[in-house]
Amino acid sequence: MINFDYARASDVTDAVRRIAADPAAKFIAGGTNLLDLMKGQVERPSRLIDISRLPLKQIDETTAGGILIGALVPNSDLAYHPLIERRYPLIASAILAGASQQLRNMASTGGNLVQRTRCAYFYDTTTPCNKREPGSGCSAIDGINRGHAILGASEACIATHPSDMCVALAALEARVHVLGPKGARVIAFADFHRLPGDMPHRDTNLHADEIITGIELPARGFATNYSYLKIRDRLSYAFALVSVAAAIEFDGDIIKHARLALGGVAHKPWRDTSAEAMLQGRSASQAVFTEAADHLLRDARGYSHNAFKIDLARRAIVRTLTQAAQATPQTQSSKKVR
Ligand SMILES: Cc1cc2nc3c(=O)[nH]c(=O)nc-3n(C[C@H](O)[C@H](O)[C@H](O)COP(=O)(O)OP(=O)(O)OC[C@H]3O[C@@H](n4cnc5c(N)ncnc54)[C@H](O)[C@@H]3O)c2cc1C
Ligand code: SF4
Repeated sequence: MINFDYARASDVTDAVRRIAADPAAKFIAGGTNLLDLMKGQVERPSRLIDISRLPLKQIDETTAGGILIGALVPNSDLAYHPLIERRYPLIASAILAGASQQLRNMASTGGNLVQRTRCAYFYDTTTPCNKREPGSGCSAIDGINRGHAILGASEACIATHPSDMCVALAALEARVHVLGPKGARVIAFADFHRLPGDMPHRDTNLHADEIITGIELPARGFATNYSYLKIRDRLSYAFALVSVAAAIEFDGDIIKHARLALGGVAHKPWRDTSAEAMLQGRSASQAVFTEAADHLLRDARGYSHNAFKIDLARRAIVRTLTQAAQATPQTQSSKKVR
């Protein structure tokens, strides 16, 4: 284990002041990702700023009719919160498809957004990795890339973003509230995570001296016609090969609004509004859903071990949209088990 200093932030302003004073410091919330990275010496922060006791654990209704989730609400509490179960079941389904109950009890909402890729080379400090060490190369492009990206990748990095919850947040058009030395700002979810380009070491557009204070959900929650489907190697405790969040609002038999986001396929939750637009004004059918899936995957590219994901994603999109249209979601909130 590396040496590091430890400090506990007394309030949110103190947390920002402390991180701004030390660019090599890191916030620690639940620690479920950061501590593993530190043990493997992938991350070597000079100082941990403990934010786990800050008063960011509320879930409140907003005047705009939506919900504001504090950044430190544990994933379990969020998934089982009555407002989320009733108004945003897509989020509850996505959270409960991830990790394990124990991890979800520790993991925070803010930390989930900033968790790092599960590319094995990123965690293996004996191999080149542009994300871990800029300019060193990408071991995955010609290596074992079964779990890697099929959309939006670059020559520098083909890693995927591992979160389930973020796929649902992307579909629902959440907004991320952050605070830094220059004040507060709000980032649209689509702009929060980045594609790798030639800077894969930067996962998000969060500045190094900013803290996530909350996630805002808009009023529209798609609580009737939704589904989150996660395809993985094991039934639980595994990251997605492909996941799909789908949500539909009908006007009679006609699709009035549709949302579609994919996980496990790109460096960020992948949402394509032009594929969603193709669904609008149409009746739900396998043919229409396949058309949208083909459109969404038009630029998909497979590597030596992951080309199967393109067809997998196509079929997963059609199935998830079908489940959403029939109001038979893949998973529903299950009974609370702690
Ligand atoms: C074995 C295992 C299996 C898992 N399986 C899944 C899965 O299937 N699906 C899934 O989605 N996730 C999965 N996870 C990941 C888990 O969801 C994340 O580790 C967790 O959400 C991170 O939250 P945390 O509070 O523990 O973050 P931490 O580990 O404390 O922090 C992670 C990062 O976020 C930063 N950070 C934390 N809070 C803030 C904030 N408020 N503002 C700014 N930066 C912040 C930290 O500085 C750090 O860089 C798994 C994890 C493990 C260990
Ligand atoms: S895919 Fe990205 S994270 Fe994985 S080895 Fe290549 S540069 Fe590193």
